[in-house]
Amino acid sequence: MRWEASSADDTRALGVRLAGLLRRGDLVVLSGDLGAGKTTFTQGLGEGLGVRGPVTSPTFVISRVHPPLGGGPALVHVDAYRLGPGTGSGEAALELDDLDLDASLEDAVTVVEWGAGVAAGLADDRLEVQLLRPHGDPGGAGDDGLEPRTVLVRAVGPRWDGVDLGGAVRGA
Ligand code: ADP
Ligand code: MG
Repeated sequence: MRWEASSADDTRALGVRLAGLLRRGDLVVLSGDLGAGKTTFTQGLGEGLGVRGPVTSPTFVISRVHPPLGGGPALVHVDAYRLGPGTGSGEAALELDDLDLDASLEDAVTVVEWGAGVAAGLADDRLEVQLLRPHGDPGGAGDDGLEPRTVLVRAVGPRWDGVDLGGAVRGA
């Protein structure tokens, strides 16, 4: 599935809608360059799940738990991107294991911000969300606010069999 998000609000709105599909134990893997909108998308997920915010880039920690405000799952937000660009998939997976997130994975929705192209092998069932800036990053990793993003969503594994991604986000 593919969408164009023409503003940060669009990116966030897509997250809100996709959150409607998420259950305890789900894993969402975000890939894309620095500044592509991964944290912005995660803010939408947090809003849609109804967890305590704010969702920000965890600068000094690599993961943060956002507890639910209601009866839903918590959101575990991991910023693996900050483990270092160029981290190979093998190495990165090892570091994710080191975080010892397994306990909460079952009860929470886990979102991992990752560098581009390192999504596979984290779990059998996952939602892969790729954020692309078609024109690169001319102004640095910051808020140009104007450049549209292309968002690609791919559901992997039996958990997602028969789930209508497009229906859930139509109109986003
Ligand atoms: P990342 O977490 O991938 O590094 P951020 O979510 O921090 O990226 O977003 C970087 C900047 O891009 C933010 O200023 C955000 O508002 C902006 N942004 C996000 N999505 C879009 C979009 N669709 N169009 C324009 N700007 C966007
Ligand atoms: Mg980020």
